[in-house]
Amino acid sequence: MLTVTVLGLGLFAGLTIFLSLPTARMREVPRRARTFLGSLTAGILLFLFWDVTTQALAPVSSAAYAGDLAGTAGQVLLVLGGFLLAFGGLTLFERLYRARNAPRPDPSVPVSEEAAPAPLPPKRAMDLIATGIGLHNFAEGLAIGAAYVSGGLTFATVLFVGFALHNSTEGFGVVGPALASGFVPSWGRLIALGLVAGGPTFLGTVVGSIADVPALSTTFLAVAAGAILYVVLELTTAAARGGRPGTRMWGIFAGFALGILTDLLVTAGHV
Ligand SMILES: [Zn+2]
Repeated sequence: MLTVTVLGLGLFAGLTIFLSLPTARMREVPRRARTFLGSLTAGILLFLFWDVTTQALAPVSSAAYAGDLAGTAGQVLLVLGGFLLAFGGLTLFERLYRARNAPRPDPSVPVSEEAAPAPLPPKRAMDLIATGIGLHNFAEGLAIGAAYVSGGLTFATVLFVGFALHNSTEGFGVVGPALASGFVPSWGRLIALGLVAGGPTFLGTVVGSIADVPALSTTFLAVAAGAILYVVLELTTAAARGGRPGTRMWGIFAGFALGILTDLLVTAGHV
């Protein structure tokens, strides 16, 4: 079940990353602004995590309500499997990439067990972040497609607005290592990074909406939930590292409120 509307939602939800990528060419983005925006997007994602998880669990509740024990167990496995696939997959991907690209440790310096992993060179760090964002954005696309199949255009639109807002701040994540190190990437490089990070949303939407099978929609929504939670944790950790707790708290609160507001506006527009 593929319509031009849903394809458009998938395309634009991912490409809003281009709104924030050009900041890599600016010299100074105040730390406070970055903490606030990172926390804002974490708040939006927290709301979407709840939204997507609720939808993924709806078949579990109805199977349990109907007294269908095998059906309930099957649905729970789909949800947990999808969640673990995304959350575990992204964790593993990041670990392998870091292990492969980290600078060689100096053998003359004793390595302590507690030592934090050596930071990647800025170019490599940007590639890692863009690829990680691309993987989770594929899952966001899956959610838009699966939401359309299982919940109709209203649910898909709520996710679209939320993801589009959150993805418009993703560029800050990608360019972070450049800003921190003084490395100025070329426009061509920024466009390539934007396509790697934002393009997969469209692909995910195509896959999510052509797989018109309830079991697959449930799994895709759970995959999205796992990917969203992974990003929320990354964002809140980054905000905790440099920012003030007050800025972080208000950012998360504003994002969460924005999620609720979007949901209300979109739902009101469709009744
Ligand atoms: Zn995203």
